[in-house]
Formats: sequence, structure tokens, C-alpha cells
Amino acid sequence: MAQYHQFDALVIGAGGSGLMSALYASKSVNTAVISKLYPTRSHTGAAQGGISAALGNMEPDKWEWHAYDTIKGGDFLCDQDAVDILCKEAIHAVIDLEHMGLPFDRTPDGKISQRRFGGHTNNETKKPVMRACHAADRTGHMILQTLYQQCIKNNVRFFDEFQMVDMITVDGACRGIVAVELNTGELHVFHAKAVMLATGGFGKVWKITSNAHSLTGDGPAIILRKSLPLEDMEFYQFHPTGIYKMGILLSEAARGEGAVFINDKGERFMERYAPTMKDLASRDVCSRSIYKEVRAGNGIGGKDYVYLDFRPDRINKYLEADGSSRRVDAEYIETRLPDIIEFVRVYMGIDPITEPVPIQPTAHYAMGGIPTDLDARVLADEKGTVVEGLYAAGEAACVSVHGANRLGTNSLVDLIVYGRRGGIHMAEYAKQVDFKLIGDDAHKAAEDTLNAIRNNAGSEHPGQIRKELQMHMDEHVGVFRTQEKLEEALEEIHRLKERYRHIHIDDKGRRWNTDLMEAWELGCLLDLAEVTAVSALAREESRGGHYREDFPNRDDQNFLKHTMVWSDNRITYKPVRIGRYQPTERKY
Ligand SMILES: Cc1cc2nc3c(=O)[nH]c(=O)nc-3n(C[C@H](O)[C@H](O)[C@H](O)COP(=O)(O)OP(=O)(O)OC[C@H]3O[C@@H](n4cnc5c(N)ncnc54)[C@H](O)[C@@H]3O)c2cc1C
Repeated sequence: MAQYHQFDALVIGAGGSGLMSALYASKSVNTAVISKLYPTRSHTGAAQGGISAALGNMEPDKWEWHAYDTIKGGDFLCDQDAVDILCKEAIHAVIDLEHMGLPFDRTPDGKISQRRFGGHTNNETKKPVMRACHAADRTGHMILQTLYQQCIKNNVRFFDEFQMVDMITVDGACRGIVAVELNTGELHVFHAKAVMLATGGFGKVWKITSNAHSLTGDGPAIILRKSLPLEDMEFYQFHPTGIYKMGILLSEAARGEGAVFINDKGERFMERYAPTMKDLASRDVCSRSIYKEVRAGNGIGGKDYVYLDFRPDRINKYLEADGSSRRVDAEYIETRLPDIIEFVRVYMGIDPITEPVPIQPTAHYAMGGIPTDLDARVLADEKGTVVEGLYAAGEAACVSVHGANRLGTNSLVDLIVYGRRGGIHMAEYAKQVDFKLIGDDAHKAAEDTLNAIRNNAGSEHPGQIRKELQMHMDEHVGVFRTQEKLEEALEEIHRLKERYRHIHIDDKGRRWNTDLMEAWELGCLLDLAEVTAVSALAREESRGGHYREDFPNRDDQNFLKHTMVWSDNRITYKPVRIGRYQPTERKY
């Protein structure tokens, strides 16, 4: 049996996108949020560097420049109408957060302080522009706390530590979800007029990742299982600065403040790869450049990493060489980047104020995901058919503002802008329709799936399968890809999927059965890894985060289009919506 609940608007996920949509939906309809984590533990809280908006508080800026940078950064795969909305509404969205009480850092005259970030430029001078609004290097933490308080104030009902395991669809429309209450193991049916999937990313498909343990792509995986497509799954971002071997992120804010990459010879090698933007070129360019250095034997001690150098005396030399009059000292760096300095001290046992820091690219962000329209409504196919009652926002979604590569600070804006649009639309929709009937057995499929895992008599250990999956994805579906590597990855994923059918878990109980839930999540990771490799194999070009060594050039003739992939590995394409900017060659 399952407990039954009914809400007008139901949001799955309590990160920035989920809370923003819940906040706006709750202004006019009865709204609940379901989250497998306690809300303030969501990954949004780990976002460090900032949220971009062309406020122009420090120097001239325009939302149109922000839009062009985003489209260029995305290697012209972005839907340009969606980007215009993002960059125009970013300004209002950041001020909205300020009015809710978010403690942004300030300029001496009391405005929101802004800093430089990769790929964000003054379009006239082509130089980096200060566009990222920040609260030290804890911007995401502040956003999450602020939105959570506002949701509580607005009487949003929270179901904390409830995990969605199935979606209820009738005649192609979404009518709710089924969740496990983790504390009791009991199933709950949530009947709703409108459901928002805001379940975040799936970095745990890879081993070296900046993503938290919980980022297993539950929302997108459930979409696949409902015979709906995912968009642009081949575009996954590898952030250049993960702590060596651990993947823990050191925010691009470090380079925004003046840090640079150096190789074994002490060279500032980004000067060669991106003469204008140098260390602040877009992330895909930086990650590839690091591996090119490693391949050329310039990794530190010949190994597979380079240094990120944020020693204040060196930063001053780099700033001087760049013609900047700005200077920093240890106190300034410690104030602007307190968390990441602490991470390096704690996890590596070295002091970044006096020593350079070993870094390597780390799996970071899904540009692709659940396809949506400009109001966050989920799309069922390449023609734009809307799935009634279903919405998606945040990293789980793909409204395609990031195209083939996301610029730093643009995810937090995406959460806030499209979370808000989705929340408003859900509420309007919920006010117009009545609850539609669902069957008494709505929980049955979820119950069967979980029982099948719990009682399976196989001998395979889920943890081992997960480890092997992550290893193969790092090796074969990483920064550099080839047909051969991708085919090998797919074969391996198919073998692992077969082994997954014979898993065994030790804990047969109900309360806090993490064995069971992690085994279920592994199923999601396997499905997402498969469609990622399938989409990457089909895209025979290099664009943004997807780099094919066997097809090293961008091919607008054949591939200026979005991939739609289904669970049976079928692929279709849909055109990119081009606006003011025709695709040109990308130079940094
Ligand atoms: C270390 C790090 C630093 C970053 N720094 C920046 C930055 O400075 N600027 C920037 O723009 N971007 C940054 N990003 C990216 C950005 O933070 C994320 O893309 C964004 O926060 C994702 O937000 P979200 O709302 O989509 O999901 P998340 O914040 O990841 O939240 C997902 C939510 O879904 C819930 N959930 C998931 N599955 C289920 C399920 N089955 N049932 C119930 N609930 C579920 C979780 O409990 C959680 O509440 C960073 C990312 C990382 C990892």
C-alpha cells in the first residue's frame, strides 16, 4: 500500500531551480517540494564562483554582450531566443534575490560586487568583463539558504528525504509521481496537476567529478523510461580545475581573481592556445589545452596534471604582464576565495598562498538533459509536442541556453530565470485544470521495481559495477573522443547493464536502505551513460565540450542541430534556433 497526497503543483528537487519554481508556484497554488536530500544539502549549495548578470556595477556591460558571450561559448548550438530571455531576465532575477535578502559582496558604494569569469567579455574591447555577482566563494550556498527561507515563509510543503522512483503518466500526460520515504521505506503517491523535475545533474556517471554523491540523474533517467527523449546528451562539460585525483572543484573564480595555469616548465601555456582571453578562455578550450600539454610531456613531472598558480606575488606578475593596474595580497585572496583555499589545505595538505596547486579536468556539468520550451514545459519529440502537466528546469533540463558548452556562472542564472518561468507557468496551468483520475495501483510499478532489486538472487555487487562504469566513462567518454573509444564504451556499458540484471544487495530492510536506493540509482547512471555514448558516437564533428579526434572540426553543414535520443538508442535531430548571431569561428 502507499500513502496518498494531492497538490496543485509538485516540484521534485530542492536545489536552486526547484526552490525558485516552488516559490513562484506557491504564490498562487498549493505547492509541495519533494527532495531526496535535506533541501539545503542540494548541490546548488556547493556552487562557488558566482551568478552572472550584466548589471554594469563595476564597468560598462550590456545584456546583449552577455547573450553573445553565451552563444559563442556554447559554440553556436544555443537556442538564441532562450539565451536572450536568460540574459535579459538575469538582471531582474539577481535584483529579486537581493531583495529577498541574499548577502552579496558589495562595492565600496554599496552596489553588488562583480568579478571576471571565463568567456564573459566586453564585446567591444574583447577583454574580460566583471559580470559575476558573488557572495565570497559561497554564492550557491547563499542562494539556496535565501530561497529555502522564502519557500518556508510562503508555506511551501516540504517532503524531505523522499526519493522519486517513478512518474505517473496517463494518456501521455503527467499526473504525479511515486516516491520512497527514505526513513521508513514506505511508498507515497503524489497526485498533482503539474509536476516540475528539478533533480539536478548526473556527474556520477564519471569517476573524476566535481559532483556530489547524490547526482545520479534520477529525473532524466525516469524520462527515458517513460519513452520520452533527452536532448544533446553528448555535451558534457569537463571543468579544467578539479583537485588532482579527487575531482573536487576549485572555482574559476580563482582565475577570475588572477590565477593562471602553469606547466612543468613553468610556462603560462594558455597564452599559446587563447592569446586574448588566456586563462579565462571557455572551459572546453582550457580542459583540452591542459591535456594537450600533458600529451606533449609538459604535465608536472611528466604526469597527467598541471598547476593552478594563485600565489599572490605571481598573480601580481601575471596582472602586470596583462597590463592591469590591479594588485592582490594574501589577505585579499583569502577573503575572496576562502572556501577553495580551505579545500586545498584540507584535501591536499598544501598552502595555495605559497605553493602551486595540482589540478586536472573534472566531469562537471550536463549541458544536455530533458528538452523544454521557454516556459520549462517538457517536450515529447523533435517537433515540439508538449507533455501535458510536466515541467523541467535547472541542470536536469535542456532549454538549450548553454548549447555545446556552458559559461561559468550561467547555471545559477538558468536555475533562477527558468525556475521562475516554470513556477509561474505551472501555477497558471494548475488553476485552469481539474485533477485527472489516476489508478489505485499507481504505485505498483515502483513497488515491483524496488522488490525486484531487493529480492534479486544474483551475485553481482552494484558498487563494483558502478566503479567499472565510471572508469570506462573517464577513459572513453571524456575530453577527447573517437569512434573506436565510444564503441568500446558502448560495448562495456551493455555488458555492465547485463551484469546489473544479476545484482545482489545485502540490506533487505526498509528503513534507510541506502543499499537499495544506490542500486536503483546505478540503473539511472547506466541508462544515462548509454545515451551519452550513443549521442556522442552519432555526432561526427567537434563542437564545444564534445571533441572528436577523428572529426576535429565543427561541421555546421551537417551538425548545426540538436540531438534527441531515446532509451532504445534511436536518434532524431531538431534545428537550432538562430537569432541575431550567425555561427562564426570561435576565437579566445
Ligand atoms: C562544486 C560545484 C560548483 C559550482 N559552481 C557554480 C558557480 O559558481 N556558478 C554557476 O552558475 N554554476 C555552478 N555550478 C553548477 C550549478 O551549481 C549546478 O548546475 C546547479 O546548482 C544545479 O541546480 P539544480 O537546481 O538543477 O539541482 P541541484 O542543486 O543539484 O539539486 C537537485 C535536487 O534534486 C533532488 N533530487 C534528485 N533526485 C531526486 C529524486 N529521485 N527524488 C527526490 N529528489 C531528488 C535533490 O535532493 C536536490 O534537492 C557548480 C557545480 C558544482 C558541482
